[in-house]
Amino acid sequence: MRYYLTTAIDYVNSRPHLGTAYEKITADVIARYQRGCGNEVRFLMGNDEHSQKVAAAGRKEGLTPLEWCDRMEGVFRSAWSALEIQPDVFIRTSEPRHREAVQALAQRIKDAGDFYEGEYEGWYCVGCEAFKRDEDLKDGLCPDHANRKPEWLKEKNWFFRLSRWCEPLKAHFAANPSFVLPESRRNELLALLDRGLEDISVSRTGTDWGIPFPFDERVVVYVWFDALINYITATGWPQDTASSAHWWPADLHLVGKDITRFHGVVWPAMLLSAGLPVPRKVFGHGFVNMSGGRMSKDAGRVTDPLELANTYGVAALRYYLCAEANFGQDLEFSEERLLARANSDLANGLGNLAARTAGMLTRWREGRVAAAPQSSALLARADAAVDTYQRCMEVLDLRGALAAATQIVTEANAHVDRTQPFAMAKDPARTAELDGVLAELVNSLLLACRLHHPFMPAKMEQLHLELTGTALDLTSSISGAKGARVLPGTILVKGAALFPRIETAKT
Ligand SMILES: [Zn+2]
Repeated sequence: MRYYLTTAIDYVNSRPHLGTAYEKITADVIARYQRGCGNEVRFLMGNDEHSQKVAAAGRKEGLTPLEWCDRMEGVFRSAWSALEIQPDVFIRTSEPRHREAVQALAQRIKDAGDFYEGEYEGWYCVGCEAFKRDEDLKDGLCPDHANRKPEWLKEKNWFFRLSRWCEPLKAHFAANPSFVLPESRRNELLALLDRGLEDISVSRTGTDWGIPFPFDERVVVYVWFDALINYITATGWPQDTASSAHWWPADLHLVGKDITRFHGVVWPAMLLSAGLPVPRKVFGHGFVNMSGGRMSKDAGRVTDPLELANTYGVAALRYYLCAEANFGQDLEFSEERLLARANSDLANGLGNLAARTAGMLTRWREGRVAAAPQSSALLARADAAVDTYQRCMEVLDLRGALAAATQIVTEANAHVDRTQPFAMAKDPARTAELDGVLAELVNSLLLACRLHHPFMPAKMEQLHLELTGTALDLTSSISGAKGARVLPGTILVKGAALFPRIETAKT
């Protein structure tokens, strides 16, 4: 089966921060899980460039918007790569293929009779790149951009007849209960639909940084309208009909909870109007909060994910972000908790299991792995944990999936304490028994390694190589996990410590 997932594309007016990294990391985990299940995966990420604040950031440096965006592409791509995030496609909205898709989609909506000219008068927040109603503002300011006064706009604009799609959307929500998740986001959008939808202004005048309407070259497409279309551009639409028929509609749009309205209402309405299928699922994840406030570049609360990765390791950072909060809810970021997770779950848990298993095997068996016992309660439970893990991953419960993987580690470590292999090693009569216990440990580790792989790819690929002498097959790492065993006779290689204990936090 094919699986097409996307993240929100990022404004490139400043560097990636932990909040945006959170979304890309969790999406990368899902993509790697899907690849491991044997699915044909297309994981899309990219940059959202036609924003006034992007143009302004370039002006400050004396660069044209495009020159600025060229520079920022490198900044974003190298950050994502350092965090072991591996998209299959990276899109920029200034690319010709996107311009073509936006114009083709706009023409279809025009032909459907869903664009009309009107006068827009009202507030516009450049921070949000969004039109604001009076009730959206607090003391005349945008709650998310209190440092930036909204602009009063009065322009002749193109409007999208969003109101027309309210009833069809309600029907779609009713027929597809998991179209928007989690439940809280779905309920928000249902309430919005119940109140009725207003038509929205979708053009901007007075700027040439954007994509002109095919039927009105004087104005450019509103940046949100433009940005949403990237998801279908990246399938090859409209030119490559075979590719777009294969990849569209997307299986998952992973976005922040503040923009589920654009993805669960506006975007599907655009597609319905254009006669195209709507995405299968929109998931609105929570924010990464710092001391009670949302982490956001506009609010000035920013933590650099690359610095954290340097201090604690990429694996620990990815693990922490997925393990710490239920996916869909906010995560309260704490460097102390990150350190505690790195030391307890990784150094003392998985790292310790790997180190002691390799230590015992090399000391007593020159690394040679024996066959796993036919009936092992420990391995039976580890195999059962694979099922639990998959059930969780299928509903995007990343935390639950990690808990199932961690359970294997915890039980294996407890097995060492219970069976006392050190006592067995001193007793020649217990050779076979010791072989059995060591094989149970090695194979528990193998299963834990496979299940942790989407979360900590590089570390787990290293561990797999040490355990089995072979590279992990990334197309069956998950689908082949249940019942997977290290071949008897394999010589395990004891490598460097997987997760060295981190003694102090960087201050
Ligand atoms: Zn705003």
